[in-house]
Amino acid sequence: MMTCSECGHEERSMKTTYRPDDGDEHALCERCYGEVAGEVLIVPGPAYCFGTCRECGGWFSVRDLSERTGGGRYSSPVGLCRGCSGEPA
Ligand SMILES: [Zn+2]
Ligand SMILES: [Zn+2]
Repeated sequence: MMTCSECGHEERSMKTTYRPDDGDEHALCERCYGEVAGEVLIVPGPAYCFGTCRECGGWFSVRDLSERTGGGRYSSPVGLCRGCSGEPA
């Protein structure tokens, strides 16, 4: 069971979200997630299709990250995004 950090609603599975401004993870039910969808990032699941850029800290598709290494934050890949690696977008 997971508990929504906003309203306390309980559900078997919930989105785990990450707030870039405070660096905290929160479980959110669909309703509460909908309210803050523009402000939070979903913590990726085991499929790791997203990784973080070690320069700017942003989340990118692993295809957009170069010099990728595993085992970063949340065990997701860490690399350099196109902007930070100087590649043309
Ligand atoms: Zn909620
Ligand atoms: Zn970057």
